[in-house]
Amino acid sequence: MPPLPSTAHPSATLRQARRAWSMLLGDSARAFAAANRALDRASQDGDRRAEAWARLTRGLHLHYYGTLADSEHELRQAVDAFAALAERPGVILATAGLARTLWRAGQFRAAIDLVLPVRDEGLQLLRHHDRAVLLNTIGGCYASLGQSEQAIAYMHEALRDASPRSGNGFDAVLHCNLANELTQLGDCDQALRHANQGLLRCEGMRNPFVRCALLINRIIILTDMGRPTEALPDIAAVLAMPTDATGRGRNALHFEPLAIAALSAGDHDLGARLVQRMLAEPAPLLPDERLERGVALAMLAWMQGRLNQAREHLAGLRALADDDTVEGLSLRIRCQYFQKASSLHAECGDTAAALADLRRWQVLHQRQDEQAHRAHYRSAVLQTEMLRLTHRLQDSQAKRRLTERSRAKLAEINEQLAQRIAEVQQLQEALRQQAIVDALTGLYNRRHLNEVLPAMLAAAQRASVPLAVVIIDLDHFKQVNDRHGHQVGDALLAQFGRLLGSSLRRSDLACRYGGEEFCLLLPRSTAASAQRKAQALLRRWRQATLAVDGHPLQRLSFSAGVADSAAPGCAGAGESRAEGAGVEALLQAADQALLRAKSAGRNRVLLAGCPSLGLAA
Ligand code: GH3
Ligand code: MG
Ligand code: MG
Repeated sequence: MPPLPSTAHPSATLRQARRAWSMLLGDSARAFAAANRALDRASQDGDRRAEAWARLTRGLHLHYYGTLADSEHELRQAVDAFAALAERPGVILATAGLARTLWRAGQFRAAIDLVLPVRDEGLQLLRHHDRAVLLNTIGGCYASLGQSEQAIAYMHEALRDASPRSGNGFDAVLHCNLANELTQLGDCDQALRHANQGLLRCEGMRNPFVRCALLINRIIILTDMGRPTEALPDIAAVLAMPTDATGRGRNALHFEPLAIAALSAGDHDLGARLVQRMLAEPAPLLPDERLERGVALAMLAWMQGRLNQAREHLAGLRALADDDTVEGLSLRIRCQYFQKASSLHAECGDTAAALADLRRWQVLHQRQDEQAHRAHYRSAVLQTEMLRLTHRLQDSQAKRRLTERSRAKLAEINEQLAQRIAEVQQLQEALRQQAIVDALTGLYNRRHLNEVLPAMLAAAQRASVPLAVVIIDLDHFKQVNDRHGHQVGDALLAQFGRLLGSSLRRSDLACRYGGEEFCLLLPRSTAASAQRKAQALLRRWRQATLAVDGHPLQRLSFSAGVADSAAPGCAGAGESRAEGAGVEALLQAADQALLRAKSAGRNRVLLAGCPSLGLAA
């Protein structure tokens, strides 16, 4: 299993890096400083996760405020670091960042091909702001391909996730991008609404780049709406912004739309100055910008009465403006080109050319309209798709929760079952014990003796070792009952049981044989040694004290008979019948010896004699 995407206790450096990431748009300079500090600390501590987030933040900051090469370098390192940690959300965000650098470099297809494969996973893993970042990137990729309807759908979707309440300002970026795309489709009213909302949002933020981009959008929108004079304060605001990293960012500012706006507003001086600054910038790479530059130059020349020069500026770009296959060339810019070209031809009296360009403009305008309609449809389709994805996600989460719940329930049931089984086993063991143990003395009962004696005898015979049996009968026990009552008799029996229990080896077995009769089985013991043991027991029993109502009982004794399996008649086991006979013989031999002990005056332990064994056999 790969490591989990997030640690339970993020390090202070990781928290700093994540804070920097969330500040990226709200306060770009502070976010960059925090990301730099986090990166330093992360490098010192070897904190790969913090390093990854710091690099992601730096990479996107540099995208706006640095060079594309620096941005790309940083984002590639972020992708690698996240990948090494198997932190997929990070990989996806950094990949989205890389896609941005690709489209900024004009590699529109490569950009969308990079980001689309991580879309569904990203939508499942990312939340809120991060999800919006991914959606907006996809939107941006489509926008760069000139597919505004797709772009708008994604950006609208992103706007749902980027709440103004989160305070990180991403919604301002989305308003900016939506304003731009809606302008591409000619929906200037909506575009203006978004631009205004974005600029309002920017007031609470410290992100000059986003503000600048929004101002430029509004300048373009107002120009397209035929209200270029209203754009003049915005032009002044853009020009007043410092161009370094704390200002509107180090990216070269495109003066083309500003110049077009100023010239459309009839402000020749400003227009001329803006064209001068436009020309001071390197020649534009992107097709849209090239057309815009041509239009701006043509407008200035026209206003200065250099009509032929103006026509030349446009003529040089006609092939580009007329090419339907150029990726990244927007319909709006092409419309703008043909509209200007048509007016210029009319101004020059070239009615045929004016009419041809007017037709061209009309066709493109119609296409723009159709695109706008498709945009609404796309938005609906995407919304449905997202909804389905969300439902799928919720479904799988619910299923997972259900499985987890049923798994937990199963574990609980298993545990209960195991407990129950253990209880039953204990109960069975207790019952088994009850069945074979005598309650009064705690010794085994006769049933158990009958069960184990044959096996013990057989084992002894297999091992050619003796097994001794001692049968003990307490002397004159009836008198105890008669004199002191049954309870005292019981207590005495219990005490004798304890004496037996404490005197025997682990391998020996003591049973209560009958009322006041006991039987000992002593494996690996001869009758003689068992006799010695029984005699020692007798001595201890006679020394034992038992008091009744504070008066000691008179000395107590027992009589016992001893036999062992080596005695004739007991040794013939080998088949079950003979074995049964052996058991009987052994017990009878001991019993006979006991009887002799009683007859001989009690208080003694006698060995079984061969004659009686012979008889019993
Ligand atoms: P002897 O020396 O010949 O063995 O005499 P005895 O009195 O011990 O023998 P007898 O067989 O005449 O009497 C045994 C007595 O043991 C009779 C019976 O009431 C008593 N007894 C048997 N089981 C119990 C018991 O569980 N509790 C009590 N208190 N007495 C019991
Ligand atoms: Mg008896
Ligand atoms: Mg007795």
